[in-house]
Amino acid sequence: MLTFKAMGFSPNLLKAIEELGFLKPTPIQEEIIPLIFDTDSDITGLAQTGTGKTAAFGLPLIEQIDIHDKQTQVLILAPTRELCMQISKDFQNYSKYNDGLRVVPVYGGANIDTQIRALKKGAHIIAATPGRMLDLMKRKVAKIDQIQTLVLDEADEMLNMGFKDELDAIMEKSPGSKRTLLFSATMSKEVSRIAQKYLKDPVRITIGKQNSGAENIQHMYYQVHAQDRYLALKRIADINPNIYGIVFCRTRQETKDVADKLIKDAYNADALHGDLSQAQRDHVMKRFRERSLQMLVATDVAARGIDVQEISHVINYNLPDELEIYTHRSGRTGRADKSGIAISILNYREVSKVTQIEKMIGKRLQKLPLPSGEEICKKQLFNMIDRMENVEVDEAQIEPFMEAVNKKLSWLTKEQIIKRFVSLEFNRFLKYYRDAPDLNKKANSPVKVDAGRKDRKRKGSGKEDFQQIRSRRKPRGNYVRFFLNLGNKDGLIPKNVIGMINDNAQDRDINIGDIDIKDSFSFFEVEEKFAPVVHDAMRHGKFKGRKVKVELALENESKGKKKKAKGKKKR
Ligand code: ADP
Ligand code: MG
Repeated sequence: MLTFKAMGFSPNLLKAIEELGFLKPTPIQEEIIPLIFDTDSDITGLAQTGTGKTAAFGLPLIEQIDIHDKQTQVLILAPTRELCMQISKDFQNYSKYNDGLRVVPVYGGANIDTQIRALKKGAHIIAATPGRMLDLMKRKVAKIDQIQTLVLDEADEMLNMGFKDELDAIMEKSPGSKRTLLFSATMSKEVSRIAQKYLKDPVRITIGKQNSGAENIQHMYYQVHAQDRYLALKRIADINPNIYGIVFCRTRQETKDVADKLIKDAYNADALHGDLSQAQRDHVMKRFRERSLQMLVATDVAARGIDVQEISHVINYNLPDELEIYTHRSGRTGRADKSGIAISILNYREVSKVTQIEKMIGKRLQKLPLPSGEEICKKQLFNMIDRMENVEVDEAQIEPFMEAVNKKLSWLTKEQIIKRFVSLEFNRFLKYYRDAPDLNKKANSPVKVDAGRKDRKRKGSGKEDFQQIRSRRKPRGNYVRFFLNLGNKDGLIPKNVIGMINDNAQDRDINIGDIDIKDSFSFFEVEEKFAPVVHDAMRHGKFKGRKVKVELALENESKGKKKKAKGKKKR
């Protein structure tokens, strides 16, 4: 086995490599580095995301830079701003001990004057998106007539993004003497055309499916009806409280929609897609890298090439149009010997693609049932208890408050205190999952066209539809059911309902039946003979400043006109 040292790197680079924690070259590095050092050949390097391509070209190219020559010697073209920034950051790490070596990233969507100033200070290496590079060349700020090496990183993606013309123009202006290196995850027709056009008898290095088939990635899928996709995603997130993952969507719009819903539902998520400004994208990526964001919802293009460590889950909210992309997506997790999980949410029709994916990655996809509400609640509860056990207590800081706090809580037993603390965080899950449907049952039941349609209508946006619930349940024998315009959202709990009824009971002993609190409204039952009293008294009441509205809930309301209880009950 080759070591970095045996490859002939200078002490400066070896020191930086060691600090980065690279113990030995990855397979693609083993192949590419000697080729760059020992030959003049053009090279195409094909390997999945995460196989270490940046260092494969970066380390030897940095070694070859003549630091005293202020001209630009290496140009790296990459499809996105994020990738340019990442490459330049990686290069800065590699060249940490190579004083005076300048790497300048330039990309669209950012202030060009800042980039011009940076270039004017000198750039041994430029990492650029093709459009901005061409612009800067036209302005005569970026010069490539002296470059020795041109790198096309993520060439397939560059073509997908429509950079072909810019690529052509830059190629045309570059010196014929240069060496060209092309890296790509796939060898599509277009990539091979570019390779044929611009590379001279390239040596082709292909490294097998490093990530996708890697032992440390588990592949699994859940089968749901298409309209339950989002609900399934929520369950996946809920059963994995410490998830740190990327949710891949097919389009920008879908990315936005899913992220918006997650944010609204109080998940720690955000979107990354092409419609965001550069500042917004940087901000999102920064938060994700720092782990202030748990879930990054992204399009393939936006997330391409971005290297974030220790991603626990890759979720295919929708399968990519080209199945090959599945491999790139999964490759985001399970890096550096860490284990990772690739999850796909599939509808009926898509399940047929499982076999294709299995063939492609040479591994089985495990079909799993979606966790039930109960399983999720249990998981969340124990996760919370874990966190509580392990939380760092800053004794000095909280000491001054403890006496008052203890005094205030002295009327509660330890058990009661624990229950309350747990409920603070946990109620959200209990509430949500109390009425949550079994998504598996629906997915596994035979699909009749009619049943499917009915189902769809009933589900709506995933929230219980008021009219439906309203007419669903009949109260018991001598009880009547009331509708109340307040719910969870208003902070209503059963105790409040009982309170409101009793406050107005005028010493009568009112029998109260079921109390059913929904998100934005509720039902309660009282014994029939008290219905007029309860209705009359409550309808003028207020709860936390909101006007209370009560009506008799009639089970067949949708058929007839709305009947309101007018103090007298007609039955
Ligand atoms: P690619 O361009 O093939 O998608 P990257 O160059 O972004 O992959 O590298 C993926 C990750 O692997 C990076 O975090 C990088 O620091 C790490 N890495 C690269 N080479 C090595 C190595 N020899 N040993 C350990 N980690 C490495
Ligand atoms: Mg790369």
